[in-house]
Amino acid sequence: MNQPQADIGVIGGSGFYSFLDDVTEVAVDTPYGAPSDSLFLGEIAGRRVAFLPRHGREHAIPPHRINYRANLWALRSLGVRQVLGPCAVGGLRPEFGPGTLLVPDQLVDRTKSRTQTFFDGEPLADGGTPNVVHVSFADPYCPTGREVALAAARGRAWEPVDGGTMVVIEGPRFSTRAESRWHAAQGWSVVGMTGHPEAMLARELELCYTSMALVTDLDAGAETGEGVSHKEVLEVFSANVGRLREVLFDAVAKLPETVGRDCLCVAALDGWEPGIALP
Ligand SMILES: [Zn+2]
Repeated sequence: MNQPQADIGVIGGSGFYSFLDDVTEVAVDTPYGAPSDSLFLGEIAGRRVAFLPRHGREHAIPPHRINYRANLWALRSLGVRQVLGPCAVGGLRPEFGPGTLLVPDQLVDRTKSRTQTFFDGEPLADGGTPNVVHVSFADPYCPTGREVALAAARGRAWEPVDGGTMVVIEGPRFSTRAESRWHAAQGWSVVGMTGHPEAMLARELELCYTSMALVTDLDAGAETGEGVSHKEVLEVFSANVGRLREVLFDAVAKLPETVGRDCLCVAALDGWEPGIALP
């Protein structure tokens, strides 16, 4: 087995790694095909981090075409055991306006076409056939990672929203007003397009996964204007990417050492015979 090259994974945009001085680009292949891009290895506060641009470095892969299985498998194969997943979302309540940072504690899956398990009975080319496994997903995010992310935001004077439900839609289109009003009426907080199956697949690989949702717009039903525009999303994202990066890096520094993980994420497959060897 190769020596671990990273402990912490960050799945996000190119803005998160491009300013590091020493970045090593590593191309990783997986039994599920290629991840969205190379992985970029660097160090933050002595912690070894692997960055992966979720949509590829040219941002050319739409949410429903991302190879989520390859992304998570590739991270784990480099040694990663804890993952931070920043993402852009729409706010479903007027008080969750652009610039809000929300660390969700729940997720609702409204995607349609995505492979959301490693345990699909399909043999892998390099041996092993996954068995039927039903992993607990009652609490989809790592409680330790959530606390670290919240503390990191507060440390940068950016009061985060602690908890809330992220509904993940198929995309790539935005919601209709009726869909958006429905999502809000359920009590859900924000809407995104990439949070699922990313969190689910992380759990199946016994990775700690923490979502950090930056609100870039109010969703169609939560405002009276024209609805969401891509330009608006990009403007808000670029206005906040600097401080989001600071918070992320602080969070990386404060995540517990891998060996000290005491959350249940690490035991997701206990009691199951997966049939495949995790990388
Ligand atoms: Zn965990």
